[in-house]
Amino acid sequence: MLPDLAQIEKKALQLLESVQDEASLEAWRIANLGRSSLLMLVFDQLGKLAKDERPVVGRRANEVKRALESAFSDRSNTLHETALQHSLQAERLDITLPGRAIPHGRLHPATISLRTAIRAFADMGFQVYRSPEVDTDEYNFGLLNMPPDHPARDMWDTFFTSMPNVSLRPHTSPGQIHVMRQYAPEPIRAILPGMCYRYEQINARKETQFYQLEVLAVGKNISLGDLKGTVSDFARRIFGQKIRTRFRASYFPFTEPSAEYDFECLLCNGKGCIVCAGTGWLEIGGCGMVHPIVLKNGGYDPAEFSGFAAGLGTERIMMLKHHIDDIRYFWSNDMRFLEQF
Ligand SMILES: [Zn+2]
Repeated sequence: MLPDLAQIEKKALQLLESVQDEASLEAWRIANLGRSSLLMLVFDQLGKLAKDERPVVGRRANEVKRALESAFSDRSNTLHETALQHSLQAERLDITLPGRAIPHGRLHPATISLRTAIRAFADMGFQVYRSPEVDTDEYNFGLLNMPPDHPARDMWDTFFTSMPNVSLRPHTSPGQIHVMRQYAPEPIRAILPGMCYRYEQINARKETQFYQLEVLAVGKNISLGDLKGTVSDFARRIFGQKIRTRFRASYFPFTEPSAEYDFECLLCNGKGCIVCAGTGWLEIGGCGMVHPIVLKNGGYDPAEFSGFAAGLGTERIMMLKHHIDDIRYFWSNDMRFLEQF
């Protein structure tokens, strides 16, 4: 019996050395320490041995069992350690790399500009009224004192649609009729902001689409002084107390008298540059006292009511504030421009 045990131990330890993974280690354990292994067979047969042989073989068998168990445990630890090192190397994570920045959305500069203007008028007590971007010929022109064939229609290079008498609004003025018809004969102090569209020759000062904001006040005893005061106050709220404004007599079919108003060009401080076309003034918009016919079309009696209206292109505010010399930047989707705001 004794030589057998030495043989069992030697062979088992030899086999263990070639074990390289957890699965073959488990197979080795079953074969050499399992219930039907040669070693366990020795324990099973102890009873059949002579009385004096029993303690000797039993002690030796226990020694072999402990030796194999210890070797198994060592091998298991070694394999585990190797597997760990391997996975640490293979799945190495470099936590020193800087994280990826999450891109945050932000407001478009044209929206910032529009909201700046809306806020200034809101502080003066004006309420926002929204009107359609696509409107009928009647609202875009007719009710604003421009019947069909009126030559003043040529002042707006309009985008017409395939539907007869429907066009993209070339200005926010049709909103005047909408708001008046909704609230007549109540007094009105409203702003009508929104996108306008014109079939323009695009250049540094003109785009085919732009935000416009219409200002409308209708009530009793509203005068040209109220108009000038409101426009000038708006300029000061946006650009500070020093900004100069000027009014030039002009013509619009829906106001009488009519004027255009300019803010001093902040890009060149009035000296003249490409944006102000060398004049030192930047044309902001048109204004005037609401024409009696327009008041009447809106549902107000011109003998009793008067009103003023003014329009402005709000991108111009952003251009003045940030010294932007080309209006085309707003809608050309150049990230280098947009990311600056
Ligand atoms: Zn200028």
